[in-house]
Amino acid sequence: MKNVALIAHDNLKPKMVEWAHKNKEALSKFNLFATGTTGKQVHQALNLPVTCFKSGPLGGDQQIGAGVAEGKIDAIIFFWDPLAPHPHDVDVKALLRIAVVYDVPMACNLATANAIINQL
Ligand code: PGA
Repeated sequence: MKNVALIAHDNLKPKMVEWAHKNKEALSKFNLFATGTTGKQVHQALNLPVTCFKSGPLGGDQQIGAGVAEGKIDAIIFFWDPLAPHPHDVDVKALLRIAVVYDVPMACNLATANAIINQL
């Protein structure tokens, strides 16, 4: 079973929940991981098990990055907000980098998320 990580910045959380709803059947076939608040919302909306890390600003992005480095994450869906500054921007950049280092597919918008979920 593939391990998929979900992350959404605050303004994009409704979009993530809507996308997760539309893709519930596909997501039910994966082990789901997420940063704290994203994971809680997706779990509540879909009633699927989600392993929640810390909230993004408190290290959740870095925990997912560690999972990538350890070969435990197969894909990342990360709806990051291009229009708002975040205190943990450096963590976001580190996650983008480590996903490239390990050649882990990472979707940062809806179009890519749909492509990845259909491909997995
Ligand atoms: P959150 O973290 O799911 O805990 O809100 C996401 C983020 O801001 O990186």
